[in-house]
Amino acid sequence: MSAAPLFEKVALIGFGLIGGSIARAAKAQGLAGEIVTTARSPKTRERVKELGIVDRVVDTNIEAVKDADLVILCIPVGACGPVAQEIGPHLKAGAIVSDVGSVKGAVVRDMAPHLPKGVHFVPAHPVAGTEHSGPDSGFAELFVNRWCILTPPEGTDRTAVEKLQAFWAAIGAKVEVMTPDHHDLVLAITSHLPHLIAYTIVGTADELEKVTSSEVMQFSASGFRDFTRIAASDPTMWRDVFLTNKDAVLEMLGTFNEDLSKLTRAIRRGDGDALFEHFTRTRAIRRGIIQLGQDSAAPDFGRSHASLPKPDGK
Ligand code: NAP
Repeated sequence: MSAAPLFEKVALIGFGLIGGSIARAAKAQGLAGEIVTTARSPKTRERVKELGIVDRVVDTNIEAVKDADLVILCIPVGACGPVAQEIGPHLKAGAIVSDVGSVKGAVVRDMAPHLPKGVHFVPAHPVAGTEHSGPDSGFAELFVNRWCILTPPEGTDRTAVEKLQAFWAAIGAKVEVMTPDHHDLVLAITSHLPHLIAYTIVGTADELEKVTSSEVMQFSASGFRDFTRIAASDPTMWRDVFLTNKDAVLEMLGTFNEDLSKLTRAIRRGDGDALFEHFTRTRAIRRGIIQLGQDSAAPDFGRSHASLPKPDGK
């Protein structure tokens, strides 16, 4: 627990995986005098009340932001503009307004015009998640040792940025500041393109004619299984990511297609050296990620394995 709360009142708009994880972590760390939340549907609001994690659940976004010192939009990227427009006139002077969207350029473009002078806009993206969504899916440790990227527009009050930085650090994240455009380019290759590839490959496997879907499921090797986890991610969130980070994704997709053609050619020509050289280079990247503490070194991501069958008669 920190000595005094960083913020008197924190308002979380949206209570799914990310909003719910922030609420749980901020509560555990005593970062807010009061945490108030709301969600779009009465069903989610009811469930959040039952969970009993936050101090208050209110029915509207306007009620939630009243007197809040920190407001975080934890909703799909495409909903951030309209919600900013709705809450703009009701924000407290001096409040920090942030979000958690996986795309930053579009969020800045859509939200900034609706935020009044005297309110500090510090967009954020916690690079942490799972394929689950909804109010029950969050957990307090989600952000521990994960990066949270802040993309404050030029001229943003430095104290506000530092305060949000302290908030994310207190719930375990490592914080980096960059421009929205650079964020979108980096995430296009590290997150958005891998999701697109997973969505593609799982869809392709589902549509094969000579291999049945039940065979795909039954004999799914670890490579395919890992793709299915990513391809189970929330359809609304990912639709919005590809609609709003179109340019950066298309740029990375162009490069990816060229590289895929090179590998296709190597396979067609039986060029083992080219394949071996490529796979050796990519293996080193995996080692680098483990060295940076961004994944487990345990084989097969530390999945537990079933025991051997007992020998007959024992
Ligand atoms: P989630 O579990 O599906 O929760 C989304 C929340 O937003 C729910 O409370 C939902 O309310 C509300 N909502 C949905 N559509 C809305 C709309 N049109 N207007 C207002 N509220 C709306 O999603 P999440 O995974 O927490 O994602 C939230 C944000 O975090 C997204 O912008 C995403 O890009 C970003 N993010 C996600 C991950 C990840 O791995 N999931 C990682 C980093 C960042 P109802 O429940 O009432 O529908």
